[in-house]
Amino acid sequence: MARPGFCALERLAWWLVFRQGIVPFEAMAKQLDYRTIREIFTRFHASEPEPKGELEHVNVYTLVVAVALSAQATDAGVNKATRGLFAVADTPQKMLDLGEEAVIEHIKTIGLFRNKAKNVIKLSRKLVDEFNGEVPNSRAALQSLPGVGRKTANVVLNMWWGQPAQAVDTHIFRVGNRSGIAPGKDVDAVERAVEDHVPADFQLHAHHWLILHGRYICVARKPKCANCIIRDLCQFEDKTQ
Ligand code: SF4
Repeated sequence: MARPGFCALERLAWWLVFRQGIVPFEAMAKQLDYRTIREIFTRFHASEPEPKGELEHVNVYTLVVAVALSAQATDAGVNKATRGLFAVADTPQKMLDLGEEAVIEHIKTIGLFRNKAKNVIKLSRKLVDEFNGEVPNSRAALQSLPGVGRKTANVVLNMWWGQPAQAVDTHIFRVGNRSGIAPGKDVDAVERAVEDHVPADFQLHAHHWLILHGRYICVARKPKCANCIIRDLCQFEDKTQ
């Protein structure tokens, strides 16, 4: 909401901080060296050997739908909506049988629900018509589905097909830049930095370790640096006490 006297830049900063929970213009730390990053992921691994995503799903199709619905929404909010939806439609054909209006009813608590419902129906149609009702396991094929971008495709490749694909969301972007694990000016640069600098044996779970760290410890407005297991290695200049 604009206030008199707000310039465009201030309005953008306000929107990012208060509506999206993002700290804008995050200071970009210097890229950490290999040994330090290895130590960081060794600690993440010791604290949570098998990190898991928090989006509920019952098969790969419902994972695709859940991830597509999670854009600009919280996992908790998506889970609340999809429990009922997936109980009645856990395959592309069942989703088509359910129809767009019923999908809207299930997901109307999620932001952009009308557009997302339209895409859920379209991607289900494409899966039935062109992929025999099966979810493909290649990035290009996944990204050909309506409503499925690179980030959604990477999450599915990582969580379901066990590929070390890095999907950079707001949490990973923040942690990568603050700590120096994967600094970059945009999500593509951070994705490349994670791929280039995280040791191969930690690549598969890097996505979830970084998301969970950003969601619960390195939070946007006031990071919990006192409770952070990588505090001594992190490059962030404004650590909290
Ligand atoms: S020390 Fe603070 S800023 Fe650095 S990763 Fe931990 S919580 Fe984030």
